[in-house]
Amino acid sequence: MSEVRKGSCLCGGIKYTVTGEIRDVTACHCTQCRKQTGHYFAASAGRNEQFEIVDEDGLLKWYRASDFAARGFCSNCGSVLFWKRENDDYMSFLVGSLDGPTNLKLSRHIFTEDKGDYYEIEDSAPQFKQY
Ligand SMILES: [Zn+2]
Ligand SMILES: [Zn+2]
Repeated sequence: MSEVRKGSCLCGGIKYTVTGEIRDVTACHCTQCRKQTGHYFAASAGRNEQFEIVDEDGLLKWYRASDFAARGFCSNCGSVLFWKRENDDYMSFLVGSLDGPTNLKLSRHIFTEDKGDYYEIEDSAPQFKQY
């Protein structure tokens, strides 16, 4: 039986499930992710067909911070939920939006050369200056 994880934005207007195997968590410290989240971005990813998104009030909006990807967020409460590369089979999602235990592990840090100067990365996950 494959694991079903449920997530939602802060106001609860957008709910989603992701079913089956998903990637371990990547922390992205790039400038765009820091601006959008206020700290850094911690995301897992699955194939597009693993996701089911319920957004009855049409709150999910996509912001294109770059010409190759879009960032999905709730236009009511501001929660950051998704990151999607153009024409890709995979979608990333913010693990902070999951409800309950995630059973996931933070497995790497990327774009550490852009990280803020007010924190250190103290865990043992590998660090990459860029991707
Ligand atoms: Zn919301
Ligand atoms: Zn980033």
